[in-house]
Amino acid sequence: MQRHGKILAALVGLACVIGGGLVSAPPATAANCHGGATFAQWLDGVRAEAAQQGISQGTIQSALSGVRYDQSIVNRDRGQGVFSQSFLTFSDRMVNSYRLQHGAKHLANKQQMFSAIEQQYGVPGPVIVAFWSLETDFGANNGDSNTLNALASLAYDCRRPQLFREQLLAALKIVERGDLAPAEMRGAWAGELGQTQFLPKDYYETAVDFDGDGKRNLIKSSADALASSAALLRKHGWRAGEPWLEEVKVPGNIPWDQADIAIQHPRAQWAKLGVTRVNGSPLPADNLPASLLLPMGRDGPAFLAYPNFQVYLQWNRSLVYATTAAYLATRLAGAPKVSRGNANAGALSRNQMIELQKALVARGYDVGKVDGILGANTRAAVKAVQAQLGMPADSYPTPELLQKLR
Ligand code: CA
Repeated sequence: MQRHGKILAALVGLACVIGGGLVSAPPATAANCHGGATFAQWLDGVRAEAAQQGISQGTIQSALSGVRYDQSIVNRDRGQGVFSQSFLTFSDRMVNSYRLQHGAKHLANKQQMFSAIEQQYGVPGPVIVAFWSLETDFGANNGDSNTLNALASLAYDCRRPQLFREQLLAALKIVERGDLAPAEMRGAWAGELGQTQFLPKDYYETAVDFDGDGKRNLIKSSADALASSAALLRKHGWRAGEPWLEEVKVPGNIPWDQADIAIQHPRAQWAKLGVTRVNGSPLPADNLPASLLLPMGRDGPAFLAYPNFQVYLQWNRSLVYATTAAYLATRLAGAPKVSRGNANAGALSRNQMIELQKALVARGYDVGKVDGILGANTRAAVKAVQAQLGMPADSYPTPELLQKLR
């Protein structure tokens, strides 16, 4: 599981990590962003910048002397599959019995550690274990790509050079600090490291040593990886003692245009509108802010997304990934299996989604890129056109809506 979605808004690479052959010469087109400098010349510039940032010559030598340009990484980045599965399709695959059973076992076996982490960072065990299982199946699939090659290649490429240059410099700082030796830096093909797939910058700035050996080792130490994940979630605004996501029941007469991740109401107001807990019992009539999240529209599952859910979107900006990770955490915390509703009957195919986006653009709506992906812009455009057509404005495109736009 890649965390590339963090880099590319709303996109998640779903391919597993596989090895790629190294090639020495990049194509000429890749060099356009640095005035035709060769990879070796460009790397000298990185060395100079690293030295300016206070990184020692010893670290620069040991980390960068063996670095090679890897065209297969760049090709992979450019050809990265886009993420267009629905919540139920994705969560059916991701929230499987293996993850639920092993997640529960880890929570029981490491109970003391998880309560120590929660005490220090305010993040409960199920939340961390859900990320641990989704990202690497509990540290079993951290990836085996050479991180420094990957980051240098992506930084040399002209697609997002600055972003990956910063990540490369952060990787050098991790070496400088003594957390990992260059040879130990192996992970996902796009440079994420460790059991919860940290970008090097997050690693350098946020990782903690939780097993007390003096090093932050997110690859070998699950204690370090899990506590660091909690530290990162807290940094992104996690609120201790509050829920993150809760499945609810929604009456048919709710104002559907309020079901929007950008709109929050106090929980008491949702209760007044007839929203109940999934078992039909009343919601607490308190002021906890919540959004009504309908990942598959009004015919699919319904959740209240609390302020902590926004932290999930910092971890990964894909709404489907975030909802799945948050839902898995609720399952590990004891929630029942999500009710399916009739949502699958009304899901658009990728081609239908593209047709819908073109129809929206033709009517003057901004959908961002016409890419067949239901991102935030497309949702907003769908909501607007639903309202214009007098349909329940739940932001979710159905075959019925597509038919009306034809
Ligand atoms: Ca450690």
